[in-house]
Amino acid sequence: MSDPARVAPDLIEWHARHGRHDLPWQHEPTPYRVWVSEIMLQQTQVATVIEYYARFMQRFPDPATLAAAPLDDVLHLWSGLGYYSRARNLHRSAQLVREQHNGELPSSFELLQQLPGIGRSTAAAIRALSAGESRAILDGNVRRVLMRYFAIESPPGQPAVERRLWQLAESCTPQDQVAIYTQAIMDLGATVCVRSRPLCAACPLHDGCRARRTGRQFSIPAPRARVVRRTQSVVMLLVQRTDGSVLLERRPERGVWGGLWSPPQFPSIEAARLYADTRLSAAEVEPAARASLRHAFTHFDLNITPLLARCAGPAGVMDGPATLWYNAAQPERVGLPAPVTTLIRSLS
Ligand code: SF4
Repeated sequence: MSDPARVAPDLIEWHARHGRHDLPWQHEPTPYRVWVSEIMLQQTQVATVIEYYARFMQRFPDPATLAAAPLDDVLHLWSGLGYYSRARNLHRSAQLVREQHNGELPSSFELLQQLPGIGRSTAAAIRALSAGESRAILDGNVRRVLMRYFAIESPPGQPAVERRLWQLAESCTPQDQVAIYTQAIMDLGATVCVRSRPLCAACPLHDGCRARRTGRQFSIPAPRARVVRRTQSVVMLLVQRTDGSVLLERRPERGVWGGLWSPPQFPSIEAARLYADTRLSAAEVEPAARASLRHAFTHFDLNITPLLARCAGPAGVMDGPATLWYNAAQPERVGLPAPVTTLIRSLS
């Protein structure tokens, strides 16, 4: 029988022997360190996050350092991690913490949720993991565990289902040892109750899990309706000077790759050639060494055709707040999307 009262004791006991105990953010779990880890772990696997987290913490050890840094510096350390609004929100929140909370992350669960990028589950994780406050979390892993344990078949996302899941999450969250419980249920979802082939034989919730008992562990949660992916095509003009540096433009804050830097983009080869003819001095346009590349976003694929424009002289474009001659040998600390890094590397 599924029993909310059994979930925490079983998970806490399991965690002592099978949970993850040496993740970098588990050492000195201050609110700031937990916050940064929780934001990085949204949409990204632990194995990828570990290296990024170490670099981020070395450069920004506290909210004050983060708030004082240029956004370019923050995006630089986030380059390749994707979902860059997370980095912009972290930076903005650090500035609000400096202006409104004397430089300390608020200890109030409610006030935390007023900071950009911190929702109910993230605020709960910060309070539970850093202060042992009894707060229920409901991230993707926890949602999957609860849906299976209580055999909730309706697709997640509907308001009534979300309300029910929050109720169940709260009913399972203990008053004591909440930090261990929170880590344990996240670990269970990440390592045992995994998306496609849950390892039920190794699960501490095996006996009470309603989905397992009724053979529905593979069909819960119900797969999301398939969305037809669209493809967007752009031409990136790699303008290279004789000293090897490449022209980059800062992308608008809102939209894809907001605040990052990329080569000028055009809807067609003709538009790129027109730009080279009219805006650059003495540029020779030719196909780039790399034919094309594809980059997957959540809802669409970006098909990038690179063109190379070699400038014999200074090219006639000055550095400015929105333009930059990027020299890969002495790189500026700015944010670069992963495909742009690939393209710049292909030039050397
Ligand atoms: S018994 Fe299986 S389906 Fe149920 S919670 Fe454990 S791993 Fe998930």
